[in-house]
Amino acid sequence: MLTVTAVAAQAPAPVTAIRAGRLIDPEAGRALTNQVILVEGTRIKEVGANVAIPAGATIIDLSNMTVLPGLVDAHNHLALTYKPDPENNIYYFTYVMDSTPLRAIQAVSNGIQMLASGFTIVRDMGNNGNYADTALRQGIEQGWVPGPTIVNSGIIIGSMGGQFYPTPEMAKQHNIVYPEYLDADTPDEIVKAVRQNILFGAKVIKICVDCKPYGYTADEIRLVIREAAKAGLKVEGHVQTLNGARNAIDAGIWSIAHGTALTDEMHKLMAQKGVWRAGTETPDTLAGHPVSPEAYQRTVAGLKNAYENKVPLTFSTDADYYVAGKTRGEVCLEFLKTWKDAGIPAADILRAMTINGYKVSETEKVRGPIKAGFFADLIAVPGDPLQNIDALKNVQFVMKDGQVFKKDGIMTPAAFFQGGPVNGWRIR
Ligand SMILES: [Zn+2]
Repeated sequence: MLTVTAVAAQAPAPVTAIRAGRLIDPEAGRALTNQVILVEGTRIKEVGANVAIPAGATIIDLSNMTVLPGLVDAHNHLALTYKPDPENNIYYFTYVMDSTPLRAIQAVSNGIQMLASGFTIVRDMGNNGNYADTALRQGIEQGWVPGPTIVNSGIIIGSMGGQFYPTPEMAKQHNIVYPEYLDADTPDEIVKAVRQNILFGAKVIKICVDCKPYGYTADEIRLVIREAAKAGLKVEGHVQTLNGARNAIDAGIWSIAHGTALTDEMHKLMAQKGVWRAGTETPDTLAGHPVSPEAYQRTVAGLKNAYENKVPLTFSTDADYYVAGKTRGEVCLEFLKTWKDAGIPAADILRAMTINGYKVSETEKVRGPIKAGFFADLIAVPGDPLQNIDALKNVQFVMKDGQVFKKDGIMTPAAFFQGGPVNGWRIR
């Protein structure tokens, strides 16, 4: 039983006051000058020009910077890093050669690299070995390591084979498709696969809609959506064919990953039904990962068409590979090029990276916007991302859950490393 004395004995939460030279509201697409953000513990307490700074508060001076809410990558795979060498960018081989424990360690590192670039939320959409994505989320939430808020899918559910084309003996005798994919062909198997992911810590469900010619029908996708909804989870579909897109939209899927199969007609339907587009628009500038000029032009044209049709857009990368000389976060920010080449104004790119990112991640009521009561996640850059979106490539300051993670361009993560699950072992 909790006594009054015990409550009184708790130390008051530390208070931090951040002086922001400019503070961007991405929803409105404008910036206010000379704002103060008061942070108490993990949350924002007050924001405004005339906020009284309490005695004893730690003051962080960002008066020569632009402060904005954290960024969202709506589609990544933090526990997967395929490489030009040795596997020639073929992730079949990554999966055979890198164990899940090694991939979990990579995921921690990639998460830190994402956070250092200002990504405070990442939707981690499968291909993460045997639930390394859940382990990453738990490690961050329990308080062992720093990292973005993770919305993870567990194992991708698909009809037989997933995205692989294994030999019969490797598939049937060695079950090689698992754990990259959960084979689920019948209604019973579909229900069971969704339940397995929920049991093992998924916060969103990811399916292969049409990775194989047999794929999923609209009714089968509806079954996934119904089962996921019992636990309050949404469903993202990997889509690579026009028919798959049609089935997914018809079924009322939450988000569609990859833009390759999304035509003008599909975009109009997505806009009408409010289906999120996680288009994963790979730029043509990543060393070791060539994109043909034709493919890049198609990607840019697809994104431009989606924007013109007012499809709900998220910033999503699918950046699950190593680019020499760049961190995972820096690779993700290279994707800004595609958005600029599609002619999308900076304010709308920023909206996709923030407001829309919070919505597709379903954090928008507690995490994302810099408003009183919300978790204190915020970043700062010199320059003005509303004028030049590339200003985001120079994140100098990052606060996550009220703790400073990066300051003056240097990571300062000491407060995030704890010797136990300080936020609670029950976090699963
Ligand atoms: Zn992906």
